[in-house]
Amino acid sequence: MILQLTNVGKTYRGRTGDVHALEDVSLKVEEGDFVAVQGPSGCGKSTLLLLAGGLLAPSQGTVEVAGQNPYALSAEARSRFRAEQIGFVFQQFHLVPYLSVLDNVLTPSLALNIPAAKKKAIDLLERFGMSHRLNHTPGELSTGERQRTSLARALLASPKLLLADEPTGNLDPANAQAVLGFLTEFTSQGGGVLLVTHEIDAAARASRSIHLDAGRVREIIHAQGEQ
Ligand code: ADP
Repeated sequence: MILQLTNVGKTYRGRTGDVHALEDVSLKVEEGDFVAVQGPSGCGKSTLLLLAGGLLAPSQGTVEVAGQNPYALSAEARSRFRAEQIGFVFQQFHLVPYLSVLDNVLTPSLALNIPAAKKKAIDLLERFGMSHRLNHTPGELSTGERQRTSLARALLASPKLLLADEPTGNLDPANAQAVLGFLTEFTSQGGGVLLVTHEIDAAARASRSIHLDAGRVREIIHAQGEQ
């Protein structure tokens, strides 16, 4: 099991009162699973991704990534665990503007000992059609190239789980399909993907789509042939 959320809830305590962002949400991502999370703005999608990513402790319930509860770890151990087990891909890429593509992809190796990191980064960038861009900075790239760079960075530490927040939101259809293809490839190699998306095309790639409504699971739709 790569990710398991069990009866998870999250309440934000604000000055104007409590917001129940998630209530009683359970989900599993197993090896090879591609799970999409959909729902209207404010339904709790980002909160769910933060909880799953070891970045925000739940108010109720439990989170397990690769059999470990990240919130049972010290802050330092948790950030290491995150770096080893989880790759993040965002709509806004979050690349370092003054570093080359290659150095951006290598940033996880600053915090972790990743064997043969440079060779691995070059291989990943080659796989994503970026070999001719290794020494460019993000400002010199197309948006599709930026997202492929951030995907290579997310994969450098060979995580089991990829968490993607609208990764195709800024991309044209051809680049969006390419990124979704790489996510699918990652699951076919035994990884698990949890993808937050508004986009029908993106959700159509998933083996399972979880529809949230006001913080609760409204419906789970299985792709054809899935249980
Ligand atoms: P989505 O990603 O689906 O748009 P979010 O997870 O961002 O939804 O938000 C779920 C609910 O929690 C919303 O009502 C939002 O206003 C509220 N919320 C999100 N973050 C905070 C926060 N830090 N403090 C208070 N309320 C928050």
